[in-house]
Amino acid sequence: MIGAIEAGGTKMICAVGRSWREVRDAKKYVVTTTAPDETTTTVMEWFASQHEITPLGAIGVASFGPIDFATNSIARSTPKEAWRGVSWRDAVTNYLGPIALGFDTDTSAAGLAEWHWGAAQRRRVVVYVTIGTGIGGGLIIDGEALHGLLHPEFGHMFVPRQRGDEFAGTCPTHGDCLEGLACGLAVNRRWNGSSEQLAPEHAAWELESDYLALAMVNIIMVASPEVIVLGGGVMKVEGLMEKVRTKTRDLVAGYIAKDALSSEIDTYLVTPGLGSSSGVVGAFVLGARACRNSA
Ligand SMILES: [Zn+2]
Repeated sequence: MIGAIEAGGTKMICAVGRSWREVRDAKKYVVTTTAPDETTTTVMEWFASQHEITPLGAIGVASFGPIDFATNSIARSTPKEAWRGVSWRDAVTNYLGPIALGFDTDTSAAGLAEWHWGAAQRRRVVVYVTIGTGIGGGLIIDGEALHGLLHPEFGHMFVPRQRGDEFAGTCPTHGDCLEGLACGLAVNRRWNGSSEQLAPEHAAWELESDYLALAMVNIIMVASPEVIVLGGGVMKVEGLMEKVRTKTRDLVAGYIAKDALSSEIDTYLVTPGLGSSSGVVGAFVLGARACRNSA
């Protein structure tokens, strides 16, 4: 039995299961992300109660980032000040004792889930990007999430500001990086409304698709993925994916002469095969791999 935590900045989604399907279909235990002590206590007490019913072989934490792999904690550079340095290793060990722990970013984990069972199966180089409250991404190569100096931070690439856009940007570190200009929070602030309330034909989505297409081209030119999976709440806006596909194809402009970037763009930029379950199933992947490695 594996415990899976999708540890997001607004909520934590928890599940246990013996297989990815069990985790996908399980009734989730959802905790609103508040102060670290309060949140991790609520989350870990639930896993401790599950552990008493059926002992867990490992736990996987798919966390918002940036994260620190050496200590299995939230990095000190996170804009969520209260969470700086918070250790998932300590939180898990305090409640479950010495148990195998798999740890990665929520987006790398979601990318792994999509590689295993979703929209990116059997692809060698896969990028998963989520456009939600923030923007993040993972790069999966041969079924492994890329870790280098740290881990990729797709949301903090820079894209050229579009003419007429004078919005300062929401990123506390960079201002107008991609996340600062195009995350859900940026859409809300720029247009003084919730992104769910903006009609599909609102000018917001022309600008949004401009920025996302620029980001896609940067990703394509740098990493040459075989497929890009685009998840997150913002991508559910009607017609947005089509706009991003068309603009990405036009910006690539045939420079990479592949059908995937012209006539087959619809199967190149895709929605998650696992829907909104990619993150928690990804946490299961991290846990299952940690369990196997500890055996
Ligand atoms: Zn930034």
